[in-house]
Amino acid sequence: MRTSDHVTAGVLDRYATGGTGIAADTLWAVEAHLENCASCRERLADAVAEQSPQTVALLAKVRANLAADVARSPRMPATWLPRRLARWAPPGLLARLAMTMLVLGAALGLDVVAKSQVLPPLVLLVAPVAPLLGVAAVWSAGLDPAHELVVASPRAGLSMVLQRTMAVLVVIIPALAVAGWLAGASPARWLLPCLAFTAGALALGELIGLRRAAAVLALTWTVGVIGPSVLVARSPVLLEPASLPYWAGLTAVIAVVLVLRRDVYTGLRSDTWFVR
Ligand SMILES: [Zn+2]
Repeated sequence: MRTSDHVTAGVLDRYATGGTGIAADTLWAVEAHLENCASCRERLADAVAEQSPQTVALLAKVRANLAADVARSPRMPATWLPRRLARWAPPGLLARLAMTMLVLGAALGLDVVAKSQVLPPLVLLVAPVAPLLGVAAVWSAGLDPAHELVVASPRAGLSMVLQRTMAVLVVIIPALAVAGWLAGASPARWLLPCLAFTAGALALGELIGLRRAAAVLALTWTVGVIGPSVLVARSPVLLEPASLPYWAGLTAVIAVVLVLRRDVYTGLRSDTWFVR
């Protein structure tokens, strides 16, 4: 029997009942043919159903057991994002972005209520660290159920981190622009600090993990700048137009460091709260 011929009905029937009485070379040829021929596999399924009730019963039992196991195993959470968009944003990111929007909304609300007072706009104070909540989620085992798979993929590394960070900025920066416009904080004052903090989190993340880096930077800014600015009711020097060249220089330096050390991201363990 040549492998290009279909398996004869007689051989198929014998194969379905355990292959007894089929010569070893024929058996080999049958199996090689079945691997490549869908119609013979279909005929085999019919032959098994007809000739071998115990195989049918065994298969049904295996299926029932497997179904129970599969039902118990963890699933990827469903995402409402189209597949193409989901590639840019891990599922955990959406909740983070929503939370950031709430914080911005609250800051804007306070700004609108306190418009007549001399306080610096809260939106302006919060803007530099606004992307950090989202950035912390772009490379995190805790927030991305598929993280193990992502890390093992050939595209893992800085380019993917940057791609996802871009997705965060595409949402946060327009939101900041609208909130800043309503609160009277020009993008010229917060845009560069915002980019510097984002790049800084990615660079520091190479050393201590992205979540930890984002937390450290956000906390430092809150304690060192937002708190004092609210207490003395003055805009911080760091967000005055005169500081912008320094922010630009800082962002450029961080970008160079990121590029030089890009290989570190490929092996970075994401969410560890321990220094590697
Ligand atoms: Zn065939």
